Amino acid sequence: MSSQLELFDALEYDAYRFGPYCLDCGVDTIEIGQYPYAVVDEVWHEAVPASTVPAGTGMLCIPCLEKRIGRPLKREDFETITWERGWLPRDVRERMWSAS
Ligand SMILES: [Zn+2]
Repeated sequence: MSSQLELFDALEYDAYRFGPYCLDCGVDTIEIGQYPYAVVDEVWHEAVPASTVPAGTGMLCIPCLEKRIGRPLKREDFETITWERGWLPRDVRERMWSAS
């Protein structure tokens, strides 16, 4: 498993190269407070098959990610660093924590 710091660097790099825009609806995820966040690999790869975008790149807003995987996200779907750093907006965080 990669270190949390490497993960953070990767997210920063990703936004720099590809922008913070949702692959599906095009919303600026920085503007709506949904950048960055990190879900576990299994969830991301289910939503974004490696064949559709270069591995480890691309961004989805939370509603579009949930649409792609066909279910609401749970807190376990996210990497710990997402919670430790408070990366998601309060309303999203509260919804995740009360869901499970
Ligand atoms: Zn979207």
